[in-house]
Amino acid sequence: MKRILVTGGAGFVGSHICERLLSEGNEVICLDNYFTGSKRNVEHLMDHHYFELVRHDVTNPYMVEVDEIYNLACPASPVHYQYNPIKTIKTSVMGAINMLGLAKRVKAKILQASTSEVYGDPAIHPQPESYWGNVNPIGLRSCYDEGKRCAETLFMDYHIQNDVDIKIVRIFNTYGPRMNPDDGRVVSNFIVQALKGDDITVFGDGTQTRSFQYVDDLVEGMIRMMNSRDGFVGPVNVGNPGEFTMLELAQQVIDLTGTKSKIIHMPLPQDDPLQRQPVIDLAKKELNGWEPKIPLKEGLVKTITYFDDLLKKGN
Ligand code: NAD
Ligand code: UDP
Repeated sequence: MKRILVTGGAGFVGSHICERLLSEGNEVICLDNYFTGSKRNVEHLMDHHYFELVRHDVTNPYMVEVDEIYNLACPASPVHYQYNPIKTIKTSVMGAINMLGLAKRVKAKILQASTSEVYGDPAIHPQPESYWGNVNPIGLRSCYDEGKRCAETLFMDYHIQNDVDIKIVRIFNTYGPRMNPDDGRVVSNFIVQALKGDDITVFGDGTQTRSFQYVDDLVEGMIRMMNSRDGFVGPVNVGNPGEFTMLELAQQVIDLTGTKSKIIHMPLPQDDPLQRQPVIDLAKKELNGWEPKIPLKEGLVKTITYFDDLLKKGN
C-alpha cells in the first residue's frame, strides 16, 4: 500500500484518479480548493477507510508524508481558467513549486498533469513530444498555456538540480462522467444543450479539430506513467488520435441523443487552436503498450447517460 496525494482530486479527472488508486488498495489524500471541483465528485469515496479529503489551495505550501503525488490542481476549461487569469498562472507555477518542494523533502515521486496546450496553435500536425509549440505569451489562453509550460520547466529543473523523481504527461482533450455541467468545455456543453433541447453552440465555422479521449483511457495512461521505468520522465502525450471537427462532434451528439436541438454558430474565441492530434508512439513504447480503448461514440454514450441522470435529478 502506498500513501498518495492527489491535488485537484475533487475535479473531473482527479476524482477518477482517486477512485482508481483506492481500488488498488492505496491510501489517498485528496486536496482541493473546490474552485471547479466539488465534494460531490468524491462523495462516494467518503466512507472509504483510506480516503481523506482536505480543503487546501496549492498556491500555499502543504506538508504531508506521502510516497507519490499526482499534481492536477488547475482549472482546465477556458471559461474557468480565464475567469481569474492571475490566479490560474499562480496555481500552475506556485502549485508546482510547492508540490515539487514537498516531493523533494519527503522523497516522493511526482507526476504533473500537463497539457496539449503547451503546443498552442500547432504549426506541426499531428503533434509529437519533440514539437516546442506555437504559443501566444500575452493572449487570453496564456495564463493556462504558459503556466503549464513553466510548470514543465520547474519539473525538469527540480529533477536535474535536486534529483526529484518526476513524470510529465501531456493530456489531450478528455471527457467523461463528472465533468461539471457548467464547465464550458465543448463535450459537456454540446451534451447538456442537446439533452435540454437548447441550441448547440458551435464556435466559429466548426471546422477546427480536437482529438477526444475518454477519461478511463487517460487514468490508465497516468497510472502507467507513474509506474513507468526509473529514469523515464517524459513528457509523454496521453490522448486519443481520433480527430474530429466540432461540427462532426455536434452531429454525433445530436444523433446519439435524438435531440431536436439546432446547431447555431457563435464567434470563435481568440487564439482558439485550429487543430489538435497527438502522436502516441512514445506512450505505446514506454507505457507498456498503452493505447486508448474507447472510441468517441462509445465514450459519448456513457457521458450522455451520466448527464441525463444528473439533469433528471435536477442538477
Ligand atoms: P477540473 O477543473 O475538473 O479539475 C481541476 C481541479 O483542481 C478542481 O477540482 C479544482 O477545484 C482544483 N483546483 C483548481 N485550482 C486549485 C488550487 N489553487 N488549489 C487546489 N485545487 C485547485 O479539470 P480536469 O479536467 O479534471 O483537469 C485536471 C488536470 O488535468 C488539470 O491540471 C488540467 O490542466 C489537466 N488537463 C486536463 C485536460 C482535460 O481535457 N480534461 C486536458 C489537459 C490537461
Ligand atoms: N467549442 C464550441 N462550442 C462550445 C465550446 C467550445 O464550438 O460550446 C469549441 C472551441 O472553440 C474549441 C473546441 O470546441 O475549438 C474545444 O474547446 P474546449 O474549450 O473544450 O477545449 P480547448 O479549446 O481548450 O481544447
